[in-house]
Amino acid sequence: MSDLTHLTLAEARSALAAGEVTAEAMTVSCLARMDATEPRVGALLARRDAEALDEARALDRQRAERGVPSDKPLWGVPLTVKDSLTLKGTPTTAGSRILEHFTPPYDAFAVSRLKEAGAIILAKTNMDEFAMGSTTEHSAFHPTRNPWDRGRVPGGSSGGSAASVAACQCFASLGSDTGGSIRQPAALCGCVGLKPTYGRISRYGLLAYGSSLDQIGPLARTVEDAALVLQVIAGHDPRDATSAAWPVPDYTSTLRGTGDLAGVRLGLPREFYENDALNPGVRAACRKAMDNARALGAELVDVSLPHTPYAVAAYYILATAEAGSNLARYDGVRYGRRAQDAKNLDDLYTRSRTEGFGEEVQRRILLGAFVLSAGYYDAYYRKAAQVRRLIRQDYDEALTRCDALLAPVSPVPAWPLGGVSDPLQMYLMDIFTLSLNLAGLPGLTVPVGFADGLPVGMQLMGRPFGEEVLLRIGHRLGSSLGVLGQYAPL
Ligand code: GLN
Repeated sequence: MSDLTHLTLAEARSALAAGEVTAEAMTVSCLARMDATEPRVGALLARRDAEALDEARALDRQRAERGVPSDKPLWGVPLTVKDSLTLKGTPTTAGSRILEHFTPPYDAFAVSRLKEAGAIILAKTNMDEFAMGSTTEHSAFHPTRNPWDRGRVPGGSSGGSAASVAACQCFASLGSDTGGSIRQPAALCGCVGLKPTYGRISRYGLLAYGSSLDQIGPLARTVEDAALVLQVIAGHDPRDATSAAWPVPDYTSTLRGTGDLAGVRLGLPREFYENDALNPGVRAACRKAMDNARALGAELVDVSLPHTPYAVAAYYILATAEAGSNLARYDGVRYGRRAQDAKNLDDLYTRSRTEGFGEEVQRRILLGAFVLSAGYYDAYYRKAAQVRRLIRQDYDEALTRCDALLAPVSPVPAWPLGGVSDPLQMYLMDIFTLSLNLAGLPGLTVPVGFADGLPVGMQLMGRPFGEEVLLRIGHRLGSSLGVLGQYAPL
């Protein structure tokens, strides 16, 4: 094997389980890849090189004694995790100065599942501060660059995770998606990204942004790899009251081989394709994917999601309202940064939060306070909540007639760093991703090709807890397009 880091997760875990490569060698390869690529990409925050190597060696010793246990599907597989997820003993900042020196005493549920499955977590990935952003430029520490073109953004807010996967620093990463933060960076970096149904994965240990919207999910280079990670992290957790006690199906069994799409009905939401913001190169790549889907036997039908035009407004009201409440806990007393020389308690709160939160986070806290304020609640928050219900009804209606919807993820391919500076323009970039979070439904980004040399992805959107349907369709479509397993030429 020439370069271990270019394997898929499925290949890597087979090689590890078969003893063709040691866990230590696999970890060493990924760490070396990080050393070689990080100066150009900047995907990572805290690295755990020494701990990861110790863990890998411990696994190798156990194997010598007892072999690879059958209940460890990710045995020895190096992964990265977004910095919004707690990892015991490793700094967890959510990309914010306010948590700069915070080291959590516990693992997020999804993280503990990865560890139990034998995975080795190499590093935390960079993100927009508290997951607020679409480019990873709002990280308080440094921006992340798109591995396909280092002058461009990787998307966000899970841009560090997407870049880390596209740069082959790891075999998969965990991200979180409140309004597109897994699907959009996956699209911009040419990888696969899954936002599961709300409630499929416990949010325990996820630093909250908009709690009714947030979901954790995998980013990987193939659909099968994303499914392997989902299998491990899905499931009920009593510590998250919104986690569903819904059985976890076998996500990978239907992915063997390639197969066709005979009998599959895919809905094309008119409001997404008729949007003038959709760039011609992205449109052309989407057309090609649709042609492939048809050639595989799928039936493509027009559907309408009539409340799509209200999604951006509704989302930025609800998300900021929830964010304002969630971020109230960062008061300079309980966690993270505390301002020096405060005159009194109010001054301590004000200074700690002013010093600790970046501009975008402060903007959202103000917006959240405004939309919830007396006299405006009915006009903004209540209206947005009503729009949210209508958006869900649109999806439910469309999905009674189709197995999944197929739509663009980002209206444009990766744009230049610093290219979008107006916050409202940035919010409009999320036009195709936000409504799915408002509806709480699952979405899978699959790479479909390129526009001007930059990756383009499309999303499959489906019924509640219908992840396996999306994975099967995405695997077949992606295989036919020959885009799965790709990585950036670095
Ligand atoms: N870009 C959107 C926002 O800034 C979505 C981010 C996310 O999904 N975390 O809110």
